[in-house]
Amino acid sequence: MSERIFVAVAWPYANGSLHLGQFAGAYLPPDIFARYHRLKGNEVLMVSGSDQHGTPITLRADQEGKKPGEIAARYHQEFLDSWQKIGISFDLFTSTDTPNHHKVAQDLFLTLKDKGYIYLDTTALLYCPSCNRFLPDRYVEGTCPYCRFEGTRGDQCDNCGKPLNPVELIDPYCRICSAIPEVRESEHFFLRLSAFNQQLLDWVKGQSHWKPNVLNFTINLLTEGLKDRAITRDIEWGIPVPVPGFDDKRIYVWFEAVIGYLSASKEWAVSRGDEERWRDFWQGDAKSYYFIGKDNIPFHTIIWPAMLMGCGGLNLPYDVPANEFLTLEGRPLSTSRNWAIWLPDYLERYDPDPLRYFLSANMPESGDTDFSWREFVRRNNDELVATYGNLVHRVLTFTYRSFEGSVPAPGELDEKSKVLLGKVEDAFAAIDRLLYRCRFREAIRNAMSLAQEANRYLDDKAPWKRIAEERQDSATSLYVALSVISGLKTLLYPFLPFSSQKLHRLLGFEGRVEDTSWAFTPLPAGQRLAPPEPLFTKLEEKIAAEETAKLER
Ligand SMILES: [Zn+2]
Ligand SMILES: [Zn+2]
Repeated sequence: MSERIFVAVAWPYANGSLHLGQFAGAYLPPDIFARYHRLKGNEVLMVSGSDQHGTPITLRADQEGKKPGEIAARYHQEFLDSWQKIGISFDLFTSTDTPNHHKVAQDLFLTLKDKGYIYLDTTALLYCPSCNRFLPDRYVEGTCPYCRFEGTRGDQCDNCGKPLNPVELIDPYCRICSAIPEVRESEHFFLRLSAFNQQLLDWVKGQSHWKPNVLNFTINLLTEGLKDRAITRDIEWGIPVPVPGFDDKRIYVWFEAVIGYLSASKEWAVSRGDEERWRDFWQGDAKSYYFIGKDNIPFHTIIWPAMLMGCGGLNLPYDVPANEFLTLEGRPLSTSRNWAIWLPDYLERYDPDPLRYFLSANMPESGDTDFSWREFVRRNNDELVATYGNLVHRVLTFTYRSFEGSVPAPGELDEKSKVLLGKVEDAFAAIDRLLYRCRFREAIRNAMSLAQEANRYLDDKAPWKRIAEERQDSATSLYVALSVISGLKTLLYPFLPFSSQKLHRLLGFEGRVEDTSWAFTPLPAGQRLAPPEPLFTKLEEKIAAEETAKLER
């Protein structure tokens, strides 16, 4: 029976280009997952959008002397371009600055307010006397009161991951003018998180399928006890508070950005001409998966679930498979120090699949992992090209030349051939189980082991040496090898969609791999093959040194 899978993907702030860390942490995993489920014949809805509000955008706009909307629109376009080039297959990638999102966010605000989960209170905030303004979130920095990390931003500590209020910071200073802010009172709306503390704890304790780091981090925060949080801000850019008399305030970006998952689903339904269809993915037995980096855990395992509990009638997250971080050449990525590889830069110079391969095989699933250009070149040449690409190319080239460009008809299969074909079946079962549980690294490793088995089989059978004397034997072993390759095309499709689609065509199929199914079906003998082309390109060793040198600058 087919399942309904909602794939919710983190909303990137539209204040800068995406780097490889964000891509490995939050964008590649959901794409693998969505492509796998589509092949399984499940109904998938995968949505996200650019987060156009909040202080990251206004700060960037201040720096560039532009309007926040101009900054957001520029990076929204860039994101769309990157998704297309790297193959992130969203059903919808929208933004938080649509009339639909504004309305859905304001409606949800009012629903929670009517139910008593949002209330008005006076709160102490930081105010910069020289800038003459309140300093929300990232407009202020100081020392984290929990872990003593210096240079912590007012909304969340990058070091310990705890969400913060600016007034909690030790030795705060204005991010714009470095002045020491004073504390002033202001009226704001609060989300009554404390009301959900026990309900959240009971719910989270039942999520034994979550990753241990996500589960433990969340249980710790809940055990310490939740504080109500202000969900409005004294800024001009953002979604207006839908209550008269609060014209100079906006809804807090984190409160409204998570609502984007719901508003995007509604926008998608309208675009499909069936405006109630979003319910298929939000109610009943649909499962929702939220793909995020570990810095976003509390917003997806506490704040958003609390909001959903308060509203009622909508599914809570089924899983939040948050990833750890990717380091670059052994050091943490830093956008401010420009220690990063930007996705658009990468895509200008290299193909998408080698990066998808590297980051799948080396995904920061259960601990931080590292990207280095040396390893990238090595994995491309020694694994992608040598193990998989060459297997495909030598089999296709030899078959094309020796059997009039068609899949040869096999004779009787010997034991070794049967064992190998059995291993393809085993790989389908094993990788199915792994992908279903979001175990991407192990899944791609399994597929690559199968490619190694096929190489060993061919070395043993050596059809190229035996074709003159034993043409039927050669035909049989090539038929078996072609079948394994066709299986690999499906198994690797979620990870390497571009090369799988190319291989699909080289094997003589029409249409899209995505419209086939997650199954191992033998190739039809006599099927015409397309003229062979290599799947991947070997990279020169010197690239690693050149690219690393560019980083150092
Ligand atoms: Zn901290
Ligand atoms: Zn200031």
